[in-house]
Amino acid sequence: MSITIKRDVCIGCGKCRMVCPGSLLKADQDRKAYIAYPRDCWGCASCVKECPVNAISLYLGSDMGGKGSLLSVEEKGDLLYWKVEKTDGTTVTIEVNKKDANQY
Ligand code: SF4
Ligand code: SF4
Repeated sequence: MSITIKRDVCIGCGKCRMVCPGSLLKADQDRKAYIAYPRDCWGCASCVKECPVNAISLYLGSDMGGKGSLLSVEEKGDLLYWKVEKTDGTTVTIEVNKKDANQY
């Protein structure tokens, strides 16, 4: 499991580096983020959620039925829009209201 970062979208804020529990993310000479140890990523999605410009996507493993699919998230107010881009070109979007967190 690993992530991919759109270098042209990254604004170099450093938030992903601060939240990665494995310190796997680094900054290059232009302050753009990259993953230095992709094989060590366990897919916690913390960096995906933290990125303010939606530059990071998570590859979904085959164990989740998502081989080759990419998971990203966009935040608008209290709403999170989790988007799965499948290899066949289709997308699935799941809307989550953060106010509902810890409700269950
Ligand atoms: S998904 Fe989690 S472990 Fe992987 S790079 Fe992002 S923050 Fe680090
Ligand atoms: S959080 Fe997003 S914008 Fe900020 S450094 Fe990481 S990839 Fe770039």
